[in-house]
Amino acid sequence: MWSVYLNTFLCILFGFVIYYEWGPGEVVSHYELDTWIAVASSLVFLCALAAILIPKLFNGLQATIEKQQNLQERLEDTNARLNNAQHIGKLGYWSFDMETQELYWSDEVYRIYERDPETFKPSLEAFLEIIKPEGQYIWEKAMEPVMAGEKNLNLQHKIDLENNRIKWIQERAELIRDKNNRPVRLDGTSQDITRLKLLNDQLEQKATELEASNKELEQFAYTASHDLKEPLRMVSSFLERLKKKYDGQLDEKGHMYIHFAVDGARRMTKLIDELLAYSRVGRVTNELEEVDLNELLDEIIKSIAGDSDQANAEIIYDDLPVIKAVPVSMKILFQNLISNGLKYQKNESRPKIAIKSDDLDSHWQFTVIDNGIGIKKEYFEQIFKLFSRLHSDDEYSGTGMGLAICKKIVNQHGGEIWVESEDGNGSEFYFTISKNI
Ligand code: ADP
Repeated sequence: MWSVYLNTFLCILFGFVIYYEWGPGEVVSHYELDTWIAVASSLVFLCALAAILIPKLFNGLQATIEKQQNLQERLEDTNARLNNAQHIGKLGYWSFDMETQELYWSDEVYRIYERDPETFKPSLEAFLEIIKPEGQYIWEKAMEPVMAGEKNLNLQHKIDLENNRIKWIQERAELIRDKNNRPVRLDGTSQDITRLKLLNDQLEQKATELEASNKELEQFAYTASHDLKEPLRMVSSFLERLKKKYDGQLDEKGHMYIHFAVDGARRMTKLIDELLAYSRVGRVTNELEEVDLNELLDEIIKSIAGDSDQANAEIIYDDLPVIKAVPVSMKILFQNLISNGLKYQKNESRPKIAIKSDDLDSHWQFTVIDNGIGIKKEYFEQIFKLFSRLHSDDEYSGTGMGLAICKKIVNQHGGEIWVESEDGNGSEFYFTISKNI
């Protein structure tokens, strides 16, 4: 607004100057009155024009300056935030210009490489000097497919620092091309992954140790069970002979004792057999094969139908897929789940088992559903542990190994196993098998 006043003031001032300098006496004496009027009216017109335009121009200018300042502030703010984000993520940005061969480092890259921005000037040569000798070799090797446009850069290298320290850095970059498809720039990031690498190394070492100790345990279980079988076979066979030979001479108690001893030996044989089966799952030398689960289920159901105890059981299954798996393991897995479904039933009820399959993206999922006694929620995890049983042998016979074997088989096929159930209302056992093992 004040610019309008300024203009009006300038016009009046201008009028006064003309009046006093070339007042009527002189002007009229030198010029014609018409000319004087023409000059004065032009001046008035120009002043009016200026009075309209100058404020507009001035306002426009002011708005542009304010906008510029705003943009500048926002740019600085964004830069500060970006720098902070880079610092938090220990992830710096760099850029290499193919034409000028200039290398730009963000503040975080300086920090990661522990170089002073005041004294260190980044360049390709200086960078290669820092990472040499192996880093330089790795870098040059990794850059070949990047320059050929085959893939982006993704490599890890280490750098040596003061006081015998080393740092692991992950470099990622992408080649930028112009509209004529000529490479113009390499945009990249450097990330300090020293801690991650250390944790990863420790994890790998632990995994190797764990695998070795698992193998040792499996070997131990295998040898122990194998060696136990021989004396047990001897005990069983001599007990049978004893029973046969002295059958007539034994009283009721003698018969009972022999019965308990024979039964104990039988259960122990079963336990050892299952322990052997469990440790054998770990030593799968068997190749993966295409397994038609419909054929497999047919076979299992036929063998169950031959068992007089289960003759009235109903077992149904959907159209099942052909999957890649170890055939013998699949047989044990389905057999264990189905026989549990048949075994853990209320008295006098007719066992019903249904088997379903679902095609998930990366896995097959199977469900074995029974109408049995069900399982309380608090035992859902426990039952998959070795020797874990919820019933006495008098109620339901077993060794507590069936589900542990199932779990091991499923895990070795890249899957998971779990149960959903309601006490007294049947159970649903779910398991998955990876499609990419
Ligand atoms: P086992 O049957 O030899 O005892 P498992 O490892 O197969 O050993 O099962 C562990 C326990 O889980 C069983 O003792 C039983 O209590 C429970 N269980 C397993 N399957 C079922 C099922 N279908 N219904 C109810 N309980 C089950």
